[in-house]
Amino acid sequence: MIPNNIERIHFDSMNTCNLCMMELENVYDNLILSPEEIDLLDMPKRSFTVHFPVHMDSGDTKMFVGHRVQYNDARGPTKGGIRYHPELNLENLKNLAFLMAIKCALVNIPFGGAKGGIVVNTKEISRDEMERITRAYIREISDIIGPFKDIPAPDAYTDEKVMVWILDEFERIKGKHVPSIVTGKPIELGGSEVRNISTALGGVYVLEEALKTTDLDKATLGVAIQGFGNVGRNAAEILYERGYRICAISDSNGGIANKDGLDIPKVIEHKYQTGTVLDFPNSKNISNEELLTSDCDILIPAALSKQIDGKNVRDIKAKIIMELANAPTTLEASKMLIDQGVLVIPDILANAGGVVVSYFEWIQNLNQDYWEEERVLKKLNQTMIDAFANVHMICIDEKCTMRRAALQFAIRSILHAERLRGNL
Ligand code: GLU
Repeated sequence: MIPNNIERIHFDSMNTCNLCMMELENVYDNLILSPEEIDLLDMPKRSFTVHFPVHMDSGDTKMFVGHRVQYNDARGPTKGGIRYHPELNLENLKNLAFLMAIKCALVNIPFGGAKGGIVVNTKEISRDEMERITRAYIREISDIIGPFKDIPAPDAYTDEKVMVWILDEFERIKGKHVPSIVTGKPIELGGSEVRNISTALGGVYVLEEALKTTDLDKATLGVAIQGFGNVGRNAAEILYERGYRICAISDSNGGIANKDGLDIPKVIEHKYQTGTVLDFPNSKNISNEELLTSDCDILIPAALSKQIDGKNVRDIKAKIIMELANAPTTLEASKMLIDQGVLVIPDILANAGGVVVSYFEWIQNLNQDYWEEERVLKKLNQTMIDAFANVHMICIDEKCTMRRAALQFAIRSILHAERLRGNL
């Protein structure tokens, strides 16, 4: 059954989630959803657009546009990042907010899904302007967010510093401390241990579960990682410490390879000294394209979307792809990877560790508590193992991909909550 209103889902060039949104059609079909259920899943509960003036450093005043989409809150307050991007639009944010609802349901944390942001190019504004823009946006949306309504977090081009401005502006408006209004804060202001590495670490936990279902021997596995930002660098460091051979890694300038393994702490030092991973001693410089098709067992795209596509997919040698980036695989490539027998750990599972530790941060804030690193690590590990097990069971029962299984599990869980509330 094709959903009668599937045309409401938009696919534009900036959309990072085409693959998941297309796969949904099959999931709806497989779960035999009623038109009412599809309608309910297909529309965001609330979406807001705000316009606000900001004084620029030049003395001029400029109007800015911000959005926030609260997609589904059947399972709890909505949760999701705030991103700054010049091409941000409401349609794309709706899809991203929906995927946040999916991610939270998949890892079974009591949140719905949201996403928001400001239409701005952070490379074209000063730090002071960024602060004024952030604070003005929060003033506009302060009534629709809250610890039990909608909790923002970092996303593309926003970080800890932006979270502090969000926290501070919200607290000024409310006239009291409300640390649970935002996650991804610095530890000194109520942030959680492990949050800064949680996306990469959550991915590693899932990868290790996936490996247990294969006959691959960890000691012999070579890993190639695309991206040296927070996620790629942390993934490299964690895997290196766990004894994996990292045979290739790249940043936006290009990559380096050594089939016997790179000394990751030294690569990090080299990147710090020179600004790039290129020209690292005892390694060969390669392009980002060569990295994707390099001779490795595990490929971890941890940078941009749409990296593995119809053109390079046939040359991929990895047996496992762990998607730490959002939507690094195109729809065409995804279909071909199934035929090639490559195990793909989908982004909605692989990179869910970030929002899981955001949930731990929120609990700590609400309880005015502080959890030691060990406690956060243990709970993150258990959450990711459980999520993997749920997905794996569906894969076996239904003989389907992990992406399909993950979407199926999450949609069932959201619809169950809607049914319990009497909305269906
Ligand atoms: N922006 C991150 C994500 O897309 C984190 C969201 C959060 O922690 O709420 O998963």
